Amino acid sequence: MRLLLVEDDELLGSGISDALERASYSHAWVQDGKEALALASEEVFDLIILDLGLPGMDGLEVLSRLRAAGNSTSVLILSARDAPRDRILGLNLGADDYLIKPFELDELLARLMAIGRRRLGASSNLVKIGRLQLDLAAQSISLDGQPVTLPRREFMLLKKLIETPKHTLSRGQLEAAVYGFEGDVASNSIDVHVHHLRKKLYPEVIRTVRGMGYQLDPLLDNEKIADEPVH
Ligand code: CA
Repeated sequence: MRLLLVEDDELLGSGISDALERASYSHAWVQDGKEALALASEEVFDLIILDLGLPGMDGLEVLSRLRAAGNSTSVLILSARDAPRDRILGLNLGADDYLIKPFELDELLARLMAIGRRRLGASSNLVKIGRLQLDLAAQSISLDGQPVTLPRREFMLLKKLIETPKHTLSRGQLEAAVYGFEGDVASNSIDVHVHHLRKKLYPEVIRTVRGMGYQLDPLLDNEKIADEPVH
């Protein structure tokens, strides 16, 4: 998952940033509301951790503008404001969760994982879609019940496509999901990963949309079935 952290408090922001790094989340950190809105509109994030009291633009305003622009990125609101009005307003504006300061970093990480699972439509760490089964905790995948070993980047690419079924993702969007903020990505790297995934899974698992990018096999989503609990 690639996250955007929006928090103007230096101490809290760096604490969260360190925790995200330790948990291997690729992320960007901004401290200003307007900057957050600009970045979130420009780049693709899986989740935004959003403080409410911000310089430049209030967090609720940032959220409302994102949603008005059709941006459906998951949002976890962080705020010292425990007034029920703000909480209700935030959730009505389309926030996915709400954490009141002060909180434990472990709780924040647990909630991020829960939101990530919900995005995949799963209540456990296992996601079944057609012939594929994704294990989010183990970062592994199986095809027709047989485990398939995938390097981390191939796994992340496939996971991104599974998270956004029926959507065509550009090479740029896939690069962002796979490489985060690392610069210098070879121009054909996504095509190479797709080639390997087709070989290791089956050729139609990823469809090429000419001039646009890639899409998960549309037939897979129709076969999507409920996840099973992890024992
Ligand atoms: Ca603040």
